[in-house]
Amino acid sequence: MYKNLPPEIIGIILQNTRDGIMISNASNQIEYINQSFTDVTGYSTEEIIGRDPKILQSGRHDAAFYSDMWKILIQTDHWEGEIWDKRKNGEVYLEFLSINAVTNSEGQISHYVAFFSDIQEKYNFGRQLDRAAQFDDLTALPKRSQIIHYLTTCLDSYQSENKLLAVIVIDLDDFKTLNDHHGHALGDRILIIIARRLKRLIRSTDMVGRLGGDEFVLILPALNNMDEVEQMTRRIISLIASSIEIDGHKYHLTTSLGITLFPFDSADAEMLLRHADQAMYQAKDNGKNQHHLFDTKKDQQAQTRRELFQELSHAIEHNELILYYQPKVNMRTGKVIGAEALLRWQHPEKGLLGPGDFLPHVEYHDLIIDIGNWVTYQAMSQLSEWLQQGLELTISINIAARQLLQRDFVDSFCNIIKDFPDVPLKYLELEILESAALENTEHVEHVIKQCQELGVSFALDDFGTGYASLSYLRDIPANILKIDQSFIFNLLDKQKDMTLVEGIIGLAIAFQRAVIAEGIETAEQGVLLMRLGCDLGQGYGIAKPMPACLLADWIKSYQPEKEWAIWSDTLWEMGDFPLLVAQYDHINWVRRVLKCIDGEQSNLEELAINDHHQCRFGHWYYEYGSQRYSHIKVFEEIESIHTDVHKVGRQIVKLCGEENIATARQKGKELLELKDKILDKLLQLQYHIIKQKK
Ligand code: C2E
Ligand code: MG
Ligand code: MG
Repeated sequence: MYKNLPPEIIGIILQNTRDGIMISNASNQIEYINQSFTDVTGYSTEEIIGRDPKILQSGRHDAAFYSDMWKILIQTDHWEGEIWDKRKNGEVYLEFLSINAVTNSEGQISHYVAFFSDIQEKYNFGRQLDRAAQFDDLTALPKRSQIIHYLTTCLDSYQSENKLLAVIVIDLDDFKTLNDHHGHALGDRILIIIARRLKRLIRSTDMVGRLGGDEFVLILPALNNMDEVEQMTRRIISLIASSIEIDGHKYHLTTSLGITLFPFDSADAEMLLRHADQAMYQAKDNGKNQHHLFDTKKDQQAQTRRELFQELSHAIEHNELILYYQPKVNMRTGKVIGAEALLRWQHPEKGLLGPGDFLPHVEYHDLIIDIGNWVTYQAMSQLSEWLQQGLELTISINIAARQLLQRDFVDSFCNIIKDFPDVPLKYLELEILESAALENTEHVEHVIKQCQELGVSFALDDFGTGYASLSYLRDIPANILKIDQSFIFNLLDKQKDMTLVEGIIGLAIAFQRAVIAEGIETAEQGVLLMRLGCDLGQGYGIAKPMPACLLADWIKSYQPEKEWAIWSDTLWEMGDFPLLVAQYDHINWVRRVLKCIDGEQSNLEELAINDHHQCRFGHWYYEYGSQRYSHIKVFEEIESIHTDVHKVGRQIVKLCGEENIATARQKGKELLELKDKILDKLLQLQYHIIKQKK
């Protein structure tokens, strides 16, 4: 299109274009340059014509770079890209270069036409921007991004298991006050001095950076041991503590340090920095002017807890929580009086979890209140359903301390129960921990009274473990004391536990409260409890907690222990108490022998397997028992069975020793039959004794 342009016009265009232009011939001699070329390179036409363009090379590119460039140029007649060249004055600069190869009519390259623009300024500006992003204006220390970059590099190249990498966050104490009192200009000067001091402290492999404000960070790779970390910490603290003199005034600073150590803390760069920062805040919280080492274990626990909170919130929303019900009975009448709602979590992966697996972790978190509200709602719907079916039961629910101590406890409670106007509140009982009630007696007293006005009753759960004083029992108007299971477990073995339970029952009577025992596992415990004055009970010996849908059928088929009926309508003499203990000892003895078959070791000496006079039952039988009951025929009949019990027991232990487990199991059945025979005789003995008393 421009074929007919006169050469003068072409000349003007070439001379005035902003790009530098250089034309060289096939033998690489420069034939033409324009004014911009001279402006950029400093070479005049006279100096450059006839020379090789190599004269411009900066030395920053290697031979491979140029040979690649030539290859592309010859193959495609074109090359373009950024290239470092050198001006006449020796200054290296960056240009954008575009070269075209011109071929003649014979198809051979006759010329190379190069256009270039100087992009050094743009490059410099970009570098400045980069630098501003990476380095702090005031102290010239690397900023966060650089620190992270360096820390990542250190972590990537971390090899030795024996070395420690320390990340130390340093925050000046009360720097804001200093700034406010003396002005920011002075504050800035102090920061510069601190930065300089820190820079002097570090080794060539360390880095000191500024995170912003008065917060600095040190990255110290390859420390040999904790001593070195401590040394460094001490040096930083004393370095900052030494006075700073500005314009004749002395300033004294202190600092708080947070430290985390890789690989103990095996986090990534961002996390390490965050952990050191957290540790620094801990040092501040602990009173400033000190250092604090990040606690990896605690952090992991906190992390696990956070995950549990999330999982549990999800569980509430997705109906993974359920209530099991454990019956409570009146042992004297044999009637089921109620059931305690006990929380379970049907976990999608871990299966059915008990409250001990998750509640203790949320005890101090508001989630326990959400859970508590859910439990109340759920129990109320269950009550409503059972009452409609004609099943009259009291349901007790457990109320966590945090929930009970909420100021608006009664309001929230009323808000839930208002959805169930058909459920009389006398069917609801709230179990509160004795220890929770102790925390704020006044509040708890108020809550209990308000709820009692609505018809709800209260039980003091785990009673006996919370160090309650008598005055407290006077003030807390709970309706029922629930004796803690730990005292019931050993009721027949430990005199002290029996005394304690007797004491609690006495207290309940004195304060006119009802009393119930939890953790009843054997019939004998129940008999003794009744004798001591506690007729209500709950425990595995009666029933384990079960899903709501099974409770009605369980109640229909429930058969109270025979012993309870025998002893129920009499205040028997405590002189007969050892009989109960003997019965309990016998059951335990058989259980322990049978455990041998499952590979569990029993203390054979204690079992006195070779001598039926020496086991605990034997002691009772031949001493106290025979003094008291030898005139009764059924008592005498027990002796031969008991001798057989030991005979079979010995055989089982021997067979187990010979690894003949199958035969041992056969013998086990025989032992169980003998046990039942003894229990039957003991029952007859008890009937006899009671008949005599009537
Ligand atoms: P707790 O209120 O004292 O409940 C009695 C616990 O003892 C239940 O354990 C029950 O299964 C167990 N237990 C009952 N009888 C026997 C027995 O004869 N032998 C043995 N070894 N254990 C027996 P669980 O269900 O694991 O509950 C443990 C604790 O978790 C409860 O103690 C209660 O403090 C708490 N908890 C349960 N459900 C809830 C709830 O819905 N909310 C709150 N805040 N706490 C709950
Ligand atoms: Mg309870
Ligand atoms: Mg309890």
